[in-house]
Order: sequence, then structure tokens, then C-alpha cells
Amino acid sequence: MAHIPQKNILSFFNFFHMSGSLYYHIPTASLWKIEGSSLSELLRDISKIYEDERLPAKNIQTNIRYAEEIYIDKLTFILTTGCNLACKYCYTNDIYKTKSHELMSKKTARIALQKIRKLSNKSFRFIQFFGGEPLFNIDTMKYIISHLKQNNFKYVKYILNTNGTLIDTDTAQFLAENIDLIYISLDGPKRINDLNRVFLNGEGTYEIVVKGLKEILNKPRKGKIIAEVTYTHKHIESKVSMVDVWTHIKSLGFDDVYIVWEFSLKNSKEYYAHIFTQMKELMKYLGQNNKEAQSLNEWRGLLSANLISPWPCMAGIDTLTVDPRGDVFPCYWLMYPNFNMGNILKNFPDEKFWSIRESLLNNTKSESKKCHSCWLRYTCKQCLGKRYLIKGDISAPYDEECKIIKSISKYYSHFIEG
Ligand code: SF4
Ligand code: SF4
Repeated sequence: MAHIPQKNILSFFNFFHMSGSLYYHIPTASLWKIEGSSLSELLRDISKIYEDERLPAKNIQTNIRYAEEIYIDKLTFILTTGCNLACKYCYTNDIYKTKSHELMSKKTARIALQKIRKLSNKSFRFIQFFGGEPLFNIDTMKYIISHLKQNNFKYVKYILNTNGTLIDTDTAQFLAENIDLIYISLDGPKRINDLNRVFLNGEGTYEIVVKGLKEILNKPRKGKIIAEVTYTHKHIESKVSMVDVWTHIKSLGFDDVYIVWEFSLKNSKEYYAHIFTQMKELMKYLGQNNKEAQSLNEWRGLLSANLISPWPCMAGIDTLTVDPRGDVFPCYWLMYPNFNMGNILKNFPDEKFWSIRESLLNNTKSESKKCHSCWLRYTCKQCLGKRYLIKGDISAPYDEECKIIKSISKYYSHFIEG
């Protein structure tokens, strides 16, 4: 067998374009016929070809199994579409289009758990509570957790994304006892947080969020509390660096800091250049002081063979989202009518589910001209929701994000070696 260049090793993900039982393998330009065997058996055979290659066949097979069987690792509940804040950069304004306060009932949540668990070949690893502001519907959150505990779902991890403004003593007690990862949105020091993160009447949220945080910190807790920071134009204009943000957030007692950049159609090249400079400074600072930040672990992930995936993201493949009405979507970033995979209270899963899932499975990186020739394609992740908002097409890479992801990964690889 001729040597197969490392860079082509995953190209057989084009297998998803299949015709009957005949498969085309690009690196070896060979046709494979399956008679009485499954796709994973075929891949096992093909992976033997790569025995001497550095990438473990395990990665390849782990990804391929999603094409054959359903594994829902993470189920996200949109417990409500309502929120008590009017953050200046909120993307849900574009997605929900309405400020209506719809709450998910316990019945809808229970049916979603039952039907989606039945669909999946494996138990959930993560249950995520999202909104709007999910603490507006803490009753359904409590119900879901107790239902899963009663039904012996021992190993599920619970994730909550909250704006942190509704955490009184009792709520803090419940969260401390039950939630594994609590993401609280806070953008840094008061003067910068309160420019963007405001109540409907325009008042800043900093004081009340820090009060709620202290309530949880005062209690014995099972999980981590992570600040989710959106680093915006306003940080740049106010000369608040990412290092300033990280230092301030840690001083409040958060376990970790997750910094993301603002997502906006108006982001300029200059904004991305600033973000890159800030990221570099933060990496340097954390490296010199032997500290960590969750955002940096993500960049490290981009250089790790463990994250090899044929898909830009796993929305609709190993994750699903259910909204208060029981409608199922690939992700909370893709809650548009054309991504509605059916309703949990009706005949779910029906044809809609299978056809949207198939189109997501076919949306591989090797199907995109840009990704196919990109050096980061094995491990790169790109949010399909952002692609859809910007380009109206989940298969079209978003150039500005590509540039910054590649710059950061390149810089980070030098940083590791250095
Ligand atoms: S960086 Fe862009 S072009 Fe490269 S693999 Fe990722 S999405 Fe595709
Ligand atoms: S990357 Fe975006 S679309 Fe994909 S799962 Fe994450 S939020 Fe959803």
C-alpha cells in the first residue's frame, strides 16, 4: 500500500455521500463494497491500513459511530424564553424575536427526557439549563433533576447558564447542592460590566450578581462556578484588558473564567486584531504565573488529536435542545423554523428529525472547499449558529472567525514549545 500523507488521513469522511453499499475512499482512491457488514466494520478494516500512522484509528471510529447510531451526550432545556435583562449584545434578540415569557412545563420536560433517552443508545452525560433566564423556571429545573435521580441517572452532570440576578439564599443552596457547572455572566469590573449588562430599566447588574455569587460561595458546593465574560468594544475603548478582567473575576472567588469575544455582524478587522492582541497578553500572563483559564483550554483543545472531528460542531449530532413548547432543535443557536426537528409532544421523532439530522451529518469539513484545504481542519470547531446568522448557511465558514482561530492556535503552539 502506498504511503498515505498524514494530511489526507480523514478524507474518507466523504463516505457520508454514499450510493447504496458502495463507498469511495479519497486517500486511496478506492471503492469499497459492503456486503452484510456495517459501516463501522468497514472502517475498522480501513483503519488497519493506517496502523503506522500517528492518528489513532479509535478517533476515527468514535466519530463514525455517530453516523450509524444516535448518542445524545448533552440535552439542553430552554426553561423559559423570558429574561429580566436587556444586555446590549444579546444574540437571543435575533433568535427568539419575541420577549414573551414562555415557561417549560414539567410534563414537557418529562416527555422530552423519556423520548430523547429512548432515541439515544447511551445515557445523557450532560443536562444543561438555559434560557432566557432559566432561574425564572427553577421549579421545572428541580423537577428534571429529581426525576433523573429517581430514575437512576447517576452520572449525569448538570450545567446552568444564568445571568446571576435571581440567586437568593434558597436558590443558592439548591444550586450549590445540585449543579456541577454554574456559568454566571459577568463582564469584569463594575464600570465595564454595567455598560452592557443591564436590567430592562437600564440599571447595571454588577452588585446583585456579586451578591448572588457570595451566597453560593458561602455554602459547601459540589461544582464549579465559572464567570462567562463577553469581551466587547467597550472593554477596548475603556482600556480594560483581558488580564484586568481575569484578575478582577478571580478576586471575586470564581473558580474559572471563560472569555468569549462579542459576536456581531458589525465587528471590524480592527476589533479582531485587538482581540488577538488581548488573547496573546492573557496567554503570556497565565503562562508566566502558572494559572489557567477555561478559554485557553479550548485553544489547547484545537491542537489536540483527541478532538479530531469531521464536523465543525456537534449540534444535532450528539446534542439537542428543547424549547418551552416542546420543539426540538440542534442547538440553542439554531432555533429557527428550518432547523425545527419536530415536537416532543407530537409524533417525535418523525421525518423532520431524520432529514435535519442527515443534513447535519453531511455537513462535514471535507465538504467545504475552504476547510478541505485548511491546516486546522481536523480539530477546528466553528459555531453553526454564528455561520447561519452571518452567512445564512451552516456550511459556509465565517472568514473572520477562521482567521482569529488559526492565529490563536498558531500562537498557542509556539507558546507551548517556547
Ligand atoms: S479555520 Fe475555517 S476554514 Fe479552517 S477548518 Fe476551521 S472553519 Fe474551516
Ligand atoms: S458551536 Fe454553536 S451551533 Fe455548535 S453546538 Fe456550540 S453553540 Fe451550538
